[in-house]
Amino acid sequence: MSTPQPESALSEPLEAGLYIVATPIGNLGDITVRAVDVLRRCEVIACEDTRVTGKLLKHLGIQTRMQRYDDHASDRQRAAILDRARSEPVALVSDAGTPLISDPGYRLVREARGAGIAVTSIPGPCAAIAGLTLAGLPNDRFLFAGFLPVKEKARGDMLAELGGADATLIFYETGPRLVRSLRAIAGVWPDREVAVARELTKLHEECRTGEAEALAQWYEANPPKGEIVLLVGPPGDIASTEDPDDLLREALDEMGASKAAGKVAKATGLDRQALYARAVELKSQ
Ligand code: SAM
Repeated sequence: MSTPQPESALSEPLEAGLYIVATPIGNLGDITVRAVDVLRRCEVIACEDTRVTGKLLKHLGIQTRMQRYDDHASDRQRAAILDRARSEPVALVSDAGTPLISDPGYRLVREARGAGIAVTSIPGPCAAIAGLTLAGLPNDRFLFAGFLPVKEKARGDMLAELGGADATLIFYETGPRLVRSLRAIAGVWPDREVAVARELTKLHEECRTGEAEALAQWYEANPPKGEIVLLVGPPGDIASTEDPDDLLREALDEMGASKAAGKVAKATGLDRQALYARAVELKSQ
């Protein structure tokens, strides 16, 4: 473990490089002392939207110059930021939370590292982690999957791909799409525990848990406002109560190995390919 930075280190000159700075996801009190210090002392702050970051800086009494940056920035704009970071401290923030997490910054960091420019992370709020700590779902293993695709086919494909993961799944979601996503989850994992964590760190923060269909009905009747993290518990319990071999044998009485594997995968959340291999074995016994 590295030694915590002493307070006095905060007043030493900031070294050149790229500083990835997390900012609040709602409650302006959620910014670290170190983040404030870096934002105050860097030469320029690269940000998604100067109006959004401008409000935060005003609240903090910081006057550092801002420069717009997002992942649509041209190669020239990115090269200009990297050039500065070679000789000056440059901060990267997003509109809220941790840069790069469903936010711009990946290419900038990758290219900075490739060019030998120092990159420092100033960690802080992240909605995915805040949602995970609130949901009461198993957290020994979790898989952050960003936003679910809008198109039905792509959404179904993504859920099928994630179905075998023995982990709590974390998605970012928006109010208008929540019910549709919950129904898609109910279609593949009707029994898994789901959590909807909304407006985290804000006045109307809430976290509602239950099965996907029950939550879909609730949010259909109570359209959700604000920002949402959607979490789906791992398949564990169902798989442990029923022996997958028994389920496969039962399915194989009525269908081929591939369909049987698909049916059991859907019911248990277990990996379809592994089930298929097992179904083929069982058939040949
Ligand atoms: N980089 C950010 C982070 O570290 O959390 C996430 C940026 S992503 C563009 C925005 C999404 O994050 C929102 O659509 C929502 O799903 C989630 N989010 C951000 N703030 C949130 C909050 N206060 N409560 C719940 N979800 C939030």
